[in-house]
Amino acid sequence: MGSQKLLLVTLFLLAFASSAQGYDFFYFVQQWPGSYCNTNNQRCCYPIYGKPPSGFGIHGLWPNYNRPPYGAYPQNCYSNSIPIMSNRQVSGLVPNLQTNWPSWTCPRSDSSNFWQHEWTKHGTCSEAVLSQYDYFRVSLQFKQSTNILQCLITAGILPNGRYYTLASVTAAIEKCIRHTIYVKCNIDKWGHDQLYEVYTCINKSGTMLIDCPVLPTPTCLSFWIRFPSF
Ligand code: AMP
Repeated sequence: MGSQKLLLVTLFLLAFASSAQGYDFFYFVQQWPGSYCNTNNQRCCYPIYGKPPSGFGIHGLWPNYNRPPYGAYPQNCYSNSIPIMSNRQVSGLVPNLQTNWPSWTCPRSDSSNFWQHEWTKHGTCSEAVLSQYDYFRVSLQFKQSTNILQCLITAGILPNGRYYTLASVTAAIEKCIRHTIYVKCNIDKWGHDQLYEVYTCINKSGTMLIDCPVLPTPTCLSFWIRFPSF
């Protein structure tokens, strides 16, 4: 009985220790709106404040593990955080968020539901390191310092509906930001792989880009991927 109790206590402590470790790094995910909007089951609406400038938009900053089971990540970590739009500091970022982190859902919205969703699902899991305000501030900073569209254009890869090799797209971005990345594809309405999202990696404290320690499962299964216009 004594040894059973000891085993239970040990198991409990191990479980607590692993959840207390929280996360190891961030994926910072940017999205090509043309590929979000042109899929079969996706309706897209401009936000109520108008069409944001053409370019990649932020999807989210996602705390992640660099350990098995790979593919799992912390989400919806309970927190007492106030709703983001009641946070005066976050409100100060709204014009910048509207430009760089638009929601394309219908009916048209002010995008704040999307920001709240990303904070609640992902941001709350790194709250011990990045406050609610820092979560958004840091995301906007990395969006500005990794100009993915410019990286691609410099390499002659343009959003013109043409096909490019996955290797050339990856190499163009990696050369430009000097770190490894992951390209996520989705499928357009004609069934072709297209450039959907770019995952860059950021260290645990949210201060610098790093090489991605672990990459999600490949999603670009064709050699050629389309870069649709937007
Ligand atoms: P996540 O829950 O962070 O993995 O993000 C996936 C959810 O975000 C899905 O419900 C998507 O439909 C939604 N989503 C992804 N990109 C956008 C976007 N640009 N605007 C609105 N919702 C989005």
